[in-house]
Amino acid sequence: MSILVVGSVALDTLETPFGRADDALGGSATFISAAASFFASDIRLVGVVGEDFPQDGIDFLRSRGVDLAGLEVVPGGKTFRWSGRYHDDMNGRDTLDTQLNVFADFNPQIPADWRSPDFLALGNIHPALQQQVLGQMAKRPKLVVLDTMNLWIDLTPDELKATMARVDVVIVNDTEARQLTGESNLIRAAKAIRALGPSIVIVKKGEHGALLFTPTAFFSAPAYPLEDLFDPTGAGDTFLGGFIGYLARTGDLSDDNLKRAVVHGSVLASFCVEAFSVERLKTLTEAQVSERVNAFRDLSAFALETLDQAADEA
Ligand code: AMP
Repeated sequence: MSILVVGSVALDTLETPFGRADDALGGSATFISAAASFFASDIRLVGVVGEDFPQDGIDFLRSRGVDLAGLEVVPGGKTFRWSGRYHDDMNGRDTLDTQLNVFADFNPQIPADWRSPDFLALGNIHPALQQQVLGQMAKRPKLVVLDTMNLWIDLTPDELKATMARVDVVIVNDTEARQLTGESNLIRAAKAIRALGPSIVIVKKGEHGALLFTPTAFFSAPAYPLEDLFDPTGAGDTFLGGFIGYLARTGDLSDDNLKRAVVHGSVLASFCVEAFSVERLKTLTEAQVSERVNAFRDLSAFALETLDQAADEA
């Protein structure tokens, strides 16, 4: 099944306690597409870059089977650049610089034959642009998934809420969920987001996992415990890509399958953070993904027995 991905394609300069990377491949659409490609095969990216965008970025996305017919290259333009520095605990980060460049005039044009995707991933961009993409759909996709960031909650909360009302799944992190709703409790915050319109809400909690809320299920997935966390950039987008890629591959939107999709998204995100940028995704194999999915299941599975049974065995 096809997935249309719209979002940023960027060059990131990153500083972590472990080192620095300059002009590394980044952007929401990049991470979403690359992650989705581990499960789904028909992925179409719409975004914009400048003439300075490196060929190895194009080569990487093509090597993952991502169709780049919707990636506009602006002649003489400069690619969107974002720069961030992570705190010592790797949880917090500060944005040091954002240069919109060609992204400032981004006006997503979905190619005519891409307007009926099965799945639509609205990566983090201005909510007005996300709505513009929705307006270009010839028919409603089976599932529309939206991601956002604190910037839009601060600057355009009403536009963002109006956009959320038009999608099926909203993915936010814990801070964003609280900021958007004014609810400090995450269960209440998720309820408040669902009341805006999306039937499914996922709240990511970084190293503490993710919560899934559907009309009929509540699921809490742990995060895969990692000893070496190198660069968290793109973990959220990678989660989204793994989630939507798994759903597109299986075509099943039942609660049980949504839970599996959350786990597959979490597993891909756990690989993403092991190296700078998309480096770990370059070497990742399907076998490594399945192995970690199994390890993930074992992480919180336990055999249930009654107190009497336990006493009998003692
Ligand atoms: P994440 O770590 O999942 O929040 O995503 C990080 C990615 O978001 C980086 O690769 C950045 O290039 C991209 N990014 C940062 N700021 C923006 C923005 N204002 N709009 C779109 N993408 C952005």
